[in-house]
Amino acid sequence: MDFSWTSEQLELYDRALDFARANLSDDPKRTEGKFPRTLWQRCGEFGFLGLPVPERHGGLGLDTLTTARVMEALGRGCVDTGLVFSAGAHLFACVMPILEAGDDRQKTQYLPRLCSGEWVGANAISEPEAGSDVFALKTRAVRDGDSYVLDGGKSYVTNGPDADVFLVYAVTHPTSGYLGLSAFLIEKKTPGLSVGRPFEKMGLSTSPIAPIYLEGCRVPASAMLGAEGQGAPLFKRSMQWERACLFAAYVGVMERVLEQTVDFARQRKQFKRAIGKNQAISHRLADMKLRLESSRLLLYRACWLMDRGQEASMEVSLAKLAISEAAVQCGLDTLQIHGGMGYVTETGIERVLRDAIPSTIFSGTSEIQRDIIASNLGL
Ligand SMILES: Cc1cc2nc3c(=O)[nH]c(=O)nc-3n(C[C@H](O)[C@H](O)[C@H](O)COP(=O)(O)OP(=O)(O)OC[C@H]3O[C@@H](n4cnc5c(N)ncnc54)[C@H](O)[C@@H]3O)c2cc1C
Repeated sequence: MDFSWTSEQLELYDRALDFARANLSDDPKRTEGKFPRTLWQRCGEFGFLGLPVPERHGGLGLDTLTTARVMEALGRGCVDTGLVFSAGAHLFACVMPILEAGDDRQKTQYLPRLCSGEWVGANAISEPEAGSDVFALKTRAVRDGDSYVLDGGKSYVTNGPDADVFLVYAVTHPTSGYLGLSAFLIEKKTPGLSVGRPFEKMGLSTSPIAPIYLEGCRVPASAMLGAEGQGAPLFKRSMQWERACLFAAYVGVMERVLEQTVDFARQRKQFKRAIGKNQAISHRLADMKLRLESSRLLLYRACWLMDRGQEASMEVSLAKLAISEAAVQCGLDTLQIHGGMGYVTETGIERVLRDAIPSTIFSGTSEIQRDIIASNLGL
């Protein structure tokens, strides 16, 4: 077992961290509610929007483990977790499916623009009555000559209000279950596609989310991504990318927050000594470190398996579950240790918690991750 990084990986991590700190850390409150296009383009300039995409398509050509490590640097260096989340959703649930299932035309048409930051991508599967149960989708795509006509609605589309292209999942064979779903790439100006009013939400404030509607939305058959009936495996694979590599960013967030909280516990004095000298505080920090490191190791192992093309669904779910629940606890811990300062919004401490809470919901809830783990245990 080798726990060391290569010199290239170390150098890339440092560069990514420095870049994120210097160029992406505008105070998210200043851009609250608005998609930060300038910062998005900077993400593209560094390569964050195409980490595992081969260089010929505009990416950095990294393996899964290195992609996760660079996402960690992004989450640690960039305090705007909404921006980081938008970048992760774009890359792992829209760009990667195009890379893995797209034909040459689709790759040439979309990948360079999506990797450079010129375009924003979105993934649209969830519906009002199909959240955890994605096989309950009602959106239909009906073949009509050389086109498909889509009708339906999608509920929570990250990047929706600003996306240039949507990866939309729809039912093409209502009686075929797992093999009844297909995926389509639909550009924002396509007649019949409209974006609803963005939702207000408790965290990830710079990552916009909105419903989208498809009403007689006609697309050429060439807009299908992958073969007809291959939507479900495509989506499953994109969730594997997202649950591993997007959540790597939360590992980076936890590392930043732990460093900041340790500093605070060393400096803040009550009863004439640093609060960190109290075991109630120092043990809470030790537990934060334990959750950070154990979830990080689960993540690296999942990515290592993915790089070897081995079955990794349980390991990916273990990592996603551990990271997201650790991130929520990290938000609670840092807030408690900062006392009143943690609760006022201007310090940015309470935002850590607000940005962590949805991580146990998106990319499959904690309950669904436990279901996947249990089914791998033979239950
Ligand atoms: C910030 C954010 C961004 C998102 N971005 C996107 C996006 O870009 N594209 C997209 O398509 N979707 C997106 N989603 C939607 C997300 O994927 C769904 O919210 C998620 O899959 C859960 O679905 P639901 O909200 O309908 O909850 P439900 O599925 O209705 O679940 C409600 C509760 O019941 C539990 N539950 C459901 N089934 C079971 C079961 N079998 N056993 C035990 N418990 C169960 C759930 O765990 C949850 O606690 C996003 C959500 C959030 C919060």
